[in-house]
Parts: sequence; structure tokens; C-alpha cells
Amino acid sequence: MFDNASADRMMRPPPWWQRLHGRLMPDYNAKATACWWAMVGLGGAAFAGSAVQVMALAWADLLQLAAGILLAMLMAMFPLKIPRTNQAFSLGDVFIVLLLLMFGAAAGCVAAALEGLVSSWRSSKRWTTRLGTAAIAAGTMRVCGELLHAATVRLGTGAADHAAALVMCAMAFGMVYAAGNVVLMSTVARLKRGDPVSLSNVFSVFGWVGAASAVASALAALLFITQRLVGMGVMLTVLPVVGLMLTTLHFFSRQQEADEAARQAATRALKNEAELEISRVRQREAEQAAQHLRELESSEMRFQSAFTHASIGMALVTQDGRMHQANPALCALLGYADQAIVGRSLNDHADITDRLRLDVTLARVSAGVGDVMPLQICCHRLDGSEVWVSISCSLFSNVPSEGSTVIMQIQDVTARHRAELELHHRAFHDKLTGLANRERFHEVLAGAIEQANEEAGPAFAVLFLDFDRFKLINDSKGHSVGDEFLIKVSKRLQRCLRKVDLLARLGGDEFAILAVGLQSEAEALDLAKRLLATLREPVRLGSLEISASASIGITFSSMGYSRPEDVLRDADIAMYRAKFEGKGRYALFDAHLHTEVASRVRLESDLRQTLNQHALEVAYQPLYRLKTGALMGFEALSRWTHDELGPISPATFIPIAEESGLITQLTAFVLQDACCHLRRWISDHPGCDDLSVHVNIAARDLADSQFVSRVQHALSSSGLAPQRLVIELTENILMAQLAAAMTTLKALRELGVGLSVDDFGTGYSSLSHLAVLPIDSLKIDMSFVRNLRPGTNEEAVIRAIVLLASSLGKHAIAEGIETQGQLDLLRDLGCDFGQGFFLSRPLLPAAVSGLLQARSAAAAVPTSLGASAAPAQPLRTALVH
Ligand code: C2E
Ligand code: MG
Ligand code: MG
Repeated sequence: MFDNASADRMMRPPPWWQRLHGRLMPDYNAKATACWWAMVGLGGAAFAGSAVQVMALAWADLLQLAAGILLAMLMAMFPLKIPRTNQAFSLGDVFIVLLLLMFGAAAGCVAAALEGLVSSWRSSKRWTTRLGTAAIAAGTMRVCGELLHAATVRLGTGAADHAAALVMCAMAFGMVYAAGNVVLMSTVARLKRGDPVSLSNVFSVFGWVGAASAVASALAALLFITQRLVGMGVMLTVLPVVGLMLTTLHFFSRQQEADEAARQAATRALKNEAELEISRVRQREAEQAAQHLRELESSEMRFQSAFTHASIGMALVTQDGRMHQANPALCALLGYADQAIVGRSLNDHADITDRLRLDVTLARVSAGVGDVMPLQICCHRLDGSEVWVSISCSLFSNVPSEGSTVIMQIQDVTARHRAELELHHRAFHDKLTGLANRERFHEVLAGAIEQANEEAGPAFAVLFLDFDRFKLINDSKGHSVGDEFLIKVSKRLQRCLRKVDLLARLGGDEFAILAVGLQSEAEALDLAKRLLATLREPVRLGSLEISASASIGITFSSMGYSRPEDVLRDADIAMYRAKFEGKGRYALFDAHLHTEVASRVRLESDLRQTLNQHALEVAYQPLYRLKTGALMGFEALSRWTHDELGPISPATFIPIAEESGLITQLTAFVLQDACCHLRRWISDHPGCDDLSVHVNIAARDLADSQFVSRVQHALSSSGLAPQRLVIELTENILMAQLAAAMTTLKALRELGVGLSVDDFGTGYSSLSHLAVLPIDSLKIDMSFVRNLRPGTNEEAVIRAIVLLASSLGKHAIAEGIETQGQLDLLRDLGCDFGQGFFLSRPLLPAAVSGLLQARSAAAAVPTSLGASAAPAQPLRTALVH
């Protein structure tokens, strides 16, 4: 609380002197004010006292004094700037000290006060500073001047004689005077600021001022000595020179100062320019940074938008597979309603079999290892359902690092995967049975071969299975029954196998089984036995019950295979061996069969060469009418004499030709040869125009659409009448291809060509078919003739065949007649025609010509056909009859 007195005091205006002080010396505090007034008071007193003293001087001295003071004041107008400081020094000090030395301390005091007033008037606008500077100069000069005066007094009137001592004293005076001035001036300034006053501060200011003052004092001392020694006249001439020098010095100093200012201005300008440039660069950088930031932000926004709205699943994934960001498409793909998937690993959803692949891919991408192919894996949705996805991974930033983020694109490819599976299944499976097909079997077999060839790899066996009479089922019961049969038996076969084994349908009624991981070959034999046993059981198809058997060929990895086709070829060969040995059994492929195969391959190539060189020969075996012994014609039989192996039997090379497809070429060759020769024989030998030539054809010929036209060509090119040609085809071929055969046979028949069923009695001929087929004759198989004796089965069979033939309006021909007995019996049984070694061996064309020559000459029935039989002569050497 304030009392009334205090309030009054506060309300009352300050006294006039306080107000005056506030206006005139607003920055002077009490101490500074006291100090200032003290110094001004003392200095003023010193000036006043000195002025009074000076007035007492003689007029001449007074005049000199006034001139000196004027010079000092003039000099104060042009102070010397001390380089690289903000301090200036007035050369008027020289004249002040000179006046001091000449006229005493009072004169020096007056001169110093007036010079101080001028110089402060010039450098400051404040009256306190102007007055203070003059007062301090006056006070200090009075004190220091008295001291110098005392010193010169001690030196005596001949002070000039002690020039050095005087100069020293003057220098000491100069320094003390300067120090006094500086101390007092800085004291007032410090008191004003409230800074403590210390000697170290004084010395830091003193510096150049002290030195300059000492030099000026020394100069004044030298002038004083000169004036004393030489007189005033010299002074009058020297002083203008000194003044001129000092003025030059002043202007030089001003010039220096101006240069310095210009230099500083230039430096400042440069600095400013550099700063300006720096600021421009900074601004540019800042703008670029801002632009970059804006682009980044917009890029980030674009990425976020693309990420969020992408139709395929996307996720940002850490190296360990955890998703730290996932888009809605991915959530939907894996069955998540919202972002609950974040934090989970995709591997949690991957199928267990795909997890390792996913890990490896992630690790490779994180490490920045080259291009990583998209990965197709199976995943499980949250509800457990399966989804196939294609995953493309790439580093989120270009630089792989410890914690690098991978961006994953996950696409639902379930539909594509299913289509691929379907296509794959179609490409590698048999449509009818659903079993693996030949291509698939090859593929798996190739893998098994590779494994088996590795050291101590597991052994495998391949079983080639072929049904013995499947064609019969197809032909007699129809294809749909055949298909149903195959489906049923394939299931039976499958039941006999282990899970690791592979059953494939190679085509038609051919199946193959790959049995892997066998401990011994006996396991494969047991399997074959099981298969045969299961196939022996009749197959029920609706009301039908079909009994079938199969032949199995087996080969083992121990044969050292390198190609799947070789394995199947050998198993196939073994299967044919099983068929040959009686069907319904299995046979093993062994070294012997291997040699057989090798020689077969060689024979095939040699046969091709022989055919190309037209080096095959055709032999003609005569056919006779048994009743009369008349020559009816010939059967053309191929003959091949190998360069190294000698004669090769048709039983060997005809099957090779059939398998390799060379049979078409062979048949064409024989056809042409037979037609040409018979045509020549007919024209060369009179009475031969009723002869005919039988040519054997194979199954492939019958199926060949060009066959009829080839026959036509042979006939037209040779000029042989079609009625003179008889085509022989075996009963088996005929029955196996009944449908195809019918068209060809009819076409041949229309041409006028005769047809004969060869090896009749060995196959399965339906009598109903026989009746409608356009056939002229049945050739009884020689196996019946071979054992033909009265009372034997063979006799009964031949009798039946002869009867059948005559009832169908066809001829019966017996082949393989080797004895008189056989000939007689056949004649008795009513067989129309016959051929055999007993009658004649097959003859080469030259021999046939001889035979026909003889026949024409004798025009008689051969005697061998009579009661006294003559043995047939060997081919090439003899002609029979
Ligand atoms: P195939 O058509 O039944 O011919 C009769 C076979 O019996 C001939 O054997 C013949 O030499 C032989 N033969 C004739 N009389 C007797 C005999 O009294 N005793 C014995 N043991 N054999 C006799 P070849 O020439 O070895 O021919 C065998 C089979 O080869 C032929 O049987 C025929 O099916 C086939 N063949 C021969 N040449 C050709 C041909 O050019 N084309 C076709 N597709 N097959 C042919
Ligand atoms: Mg024949
Ligand atoms: Mg025959």
C-alpha cells in the first residue's frame, strides 16, 4: 500500500534540473553524470586558470601562441585515421606540445582545450561529448603539461643541449597525456553503460593513440629544439613545410581511408553478391526439394490409389513373408473381410508343399538376385477352399537391404490352372479308359530310366500286354462292346498293381505296365502271373460273357536302356514271343531276343537296299489240275539271296517287310514281275494262254487305298489279261480286315482278277462270310496235307474243306504235296488243284521257260501225276515234267 506522501511524490513532476538532465543527457546515469560534471568542472577550471595566465604573456608571444592554437585547431579539422582501427589522431597535438614547451603548461592547456573542442565538434554531434572532450583535454594537458614543464625546468635553460633527454621526456609526456585522455573518456563511457572500469580495458583502447601521441610529442620536442637553436625564422619556414607535410599526410590518410572504404565496399558487394547467389541457390534447392516432395506425394498417392483399387491382390511384405500392407483384392482373394490379413504371412495360406518355394523366392527377391520368375502355387482361403495363385515379386525400393520390403502381386489363376490340368490330362491320358497314354508312359518311363541308370538306382520292369483275340470281339460284337471290354479289363489290371506302378493304354488292345522299385525280377513275373490269371476270368458285359486272354512281354531295366522307345520295343518283341509260344502267357526279353532284334534291324535295312536296287528275285511254283495233271499256272514266291547270309526265307523277310512298310514296295515288285513273265510265257509258248499266276499279298496291301490301282497298272503295263492274275491272301488277313477287305476285293473282282484264300483252315473263317466273299478258291494249308493219310483227322478236314468249297462254287487247292500218297489221296478226295515239292519246286523264270518248252513239245500229262511217281527235282537244277 502506498501512503499519501508517497502518492504525492509520485504524482508530483520531477524538479527542473532533473527534467533538463533527462532532455540533455538522457543516457547519463548518476555515476556517469557525476563523473562528467567532475571532469568538465575540473577541465573548465584548468582552462579558465590557464587562459588567465596566458593573457599575461607578451604580445609577441601571445601572437605566436594564437598562431599555434589556430594551427592546432586547423589540424583538428583533418585528423589522421589510424589504419584498421576506428581511432583517429589529430596532428594538432604537435603544435599543442610545441606551444607547451615554448610557453608553458597554461598555453598547452588552452591550445589542447580549443583543439579538443574542434576535433570533438567534428566527430560528435552531442554537446556533452564535445564539452567533455575539450574539458578532459584541458585538464589532462594542465596536469601533464606541469609535469613536463617541471622536467624541462630540471633540465635547465639549456634544455636544447639535452635534446635526447627532452625528446624522451616529450615522448613520455605524449603517452601519459594520451593515456589520461583515454582513461577519462572511456571511464565516462563505461559508467554510462554501467560496465566496470578496469585497466585492461584502458590498454585495449590505448594502443595506437598512445604511440601517435608519443611520436607527435617527440616531433614537437624536435621543433622546439630547432627553434631554440636556430631561431624563429627557421620555424616560420619549417612550419608551413611541416603543415604541408601533415596536410599531405592527412589527405593521403583520407585517400587510404577512401580506398579502404572502397575495398571494403567492393568486398561487401562481393560478399553480398555471393550471399545473394548462395541464397538464390538455396532458394532453387528449396524449390527443387519442394517440387520433389510434391512429386513424391503425388507418386505416393498414385501408388496408393493403384494399390487400393487394383483388381489383383497386392501386398507389401517383409523379408520373413509378413504382410504389412494388403489391398482389398487380396483380402477378398484369401477370404478376409477387412484388413485382418495384415501382420499375417502369406505362407500361412500357402499349401504345405509350396511353402519352401515361396520362401526361396522371397529370399532371392530380397537379396536382389536377378530376375525371379512368377511363382504359381496353391493357397488355402480362410474357409479352407483351394485357390491357385500366380505370384510376382519385386523389391519395393531398388536397393536390397537388411529389412527390405517386397511388393507382391497375387493373381487368382484357378480357372487357368484347372484348364491347364484338363489339357494336361487330355494330352497325357487315354480318353476311353482314363489311363495314362503312350506319351505319359514315355515320360514316366524316361524318369525311371534316369533313376535306374544312377548308381544303385531302383530296378524297374515294363510289361507289354496285348489281348489275343480282341479284334474278333470288335468285329463280332461291335466296337461299343469292344470299348466296354477294354474299360472293364483296364480296371481289373489296375487292381493288380501297386500304387507306385503305372498302367497305360498304348492304343487298341495294347497296354503297358511300368513296375518300379523292384527288389528282384521275380516280382515282375509274379505280377505277370497275377495279370494273366485275372484276365482269364470271363468279363461280363450285360448279357454277354466274354472270355479273353492276353500275351505279355516283359523286359527289365537291367538291360541298360537309355531311351523309353527301346524299352517298349523290347517288351513288344517279348510279347510277340509269348504269342508265338502259344498265347495267353508271358515271355521275357533276353539276350537271344536282343540278338534277334539286332539282326532284324540289319535285315530291314538290307532288304530296303535290295528292293531299291530291284535285286529281289521271284520264283514260280507250278500249280496242277490234280485229275488231269495239266499245268494250271504258278504261284509267285519272293526269293532273296543276301550278299553275306545267303538265301533268306520269306518266312523271315516277309514279316520284316510287313512291319517296316516295305511290303507295299515288295508286292508291287512281285506283281509287276509276275504279270510281265506270264505275259511273256503266254506269247512265247503256244497253248499257255490259259495259265494264271498267283501273287501273295499282305494285310497292309489290303488296307492300301492305292492297291487296286497298282494291280491295274501292273496288268496294263504288262498287257496281261486280268483273268490270268489271282491274288492270294491268307485267311487270317482276310478275317481280321473283313470290312476293309470287302471293298478292295470287290474292286479287284470287278477288274476280273481272281481271288484265293491262302493257308485255309488255320484261321477263323465265318462260313456266312465265306459265302458272300468274292472268292474263287480255297488253298488248304499245308499243315493238313503234311499229315494226310487215310483215316486221319487231316483227311476228314480236307474232305470237309473240299466239300465246302464245291458247295460254295469255289475250287480247292492243296499246297505242300510232298509224296505220291498225298497226291493220290487228294485226288481221291476231289481236290481240284495242287502244288508241292513232289510236283515241282518253285522255279526261277529261266527254268519255267524250259518247263513250258518241254510242255509244249510233249503236250502231255506229266508222268508223276500217274501211278509211277517221280521225285521232284531241286530248284535251279531240274525241271519236273
Ligand atoms: P504260301 O503262300 O503258302 O506259299 C507256299 C509256301 O510253301 C512257299 O514257301 C513254298 O515254297 C512252300 N512249299 C511249296 N510246296 C511245298 C512242299 O511240298 N513242302 C514244303 N515244306 N513247302 C512247300 P515260301 O516260298 O517259303 O513262302 C512262305 C510264305 O511266304 C508263303 O506261303 C507266303 O505266305 C509268303 N510269301 C512268299 N512270297 C511272298 C510274296 O511275294 N508276297 C507275300 N505277301 N508273301 C509271300
Ligand atoms: Mg500263297
Ligand atoms: Mg500257303
